[in-house]
Amino acid sequence: MDNIVIFGAPGSGKGTYSTALVKEFGYNHISTGDVLRAEIKAGTKLGKIVKGYIDQGQLIPDEHMIDILAGVYDSMLDGPGVIFDGFPRTIVQAKALKDMLQERGEKITITINLNVSEDVLMERLLRRAKIEGRADDNEETIKKRFKVYYNQTYPLIEWFKNEGVLSEFTFKGDTNLIIKEIIEKVASL
Ligand code: AMP
Repeated sequence: MDNIVIFGAPGSGKGTYSTALVKEFGYNHISTGDVLRAEIKAGTKLGKIVKGYIDQGQLIPDEHMIDILAGVYDSMLDGPGVIFDGFPRTIVQAKALKDMLQERGEKITITINLNVSEDVLMERLLRRAKIEGRADDNEETIKKRFKVYYNQTYPLIEWFKNEGVLSEFTFKGDTNLIIKEIIEKVASL
């Protein structure tokens, strides 16, 4: 089974590229952001815990995330693979992912790192704010999310590199071109 991590700053297109991979290869898709937003919408206990963090642009504590992830992953074991979109976001989560996969005889197949300039990221997120109305897509919270990304998530690139699973893709103005590059890379695995 393929276990693909899609990695990048807020607005880097993780959701878009995940959708393209799902369409091409029939993978299952875990977007931890979508899982959390669904919990909030359903008014669950977990939803109530996580709402404040999301609205403030902060990360949800690792222990909640790790429990959620294992539960969702285990419902997807019969497919050709899983895309992890928005997880891991900390070194603790990355190690937990590695352990969880190992316990199931699996490993991270590849990490797709999306490099996009900060100007483009901000422009995309502000545009998305108008379309989707996400509470955390306002300029102030976006800036906080960038800071959280660079402090807590960006250091993971080194971790993935050491694991030998990092593959880099740089946005140069054409989303379709990256989709093509990513699909080619995944097809060659
Ligand atoms: P996303 O939709 O991936 O941009 O995630 C939106 C928000 O959900 C983030 O800003 C965090 O508050 C929270 N979140 C999503 N995934 C994680 C994660 N792996 N760890 C902690 N918080 C997360």
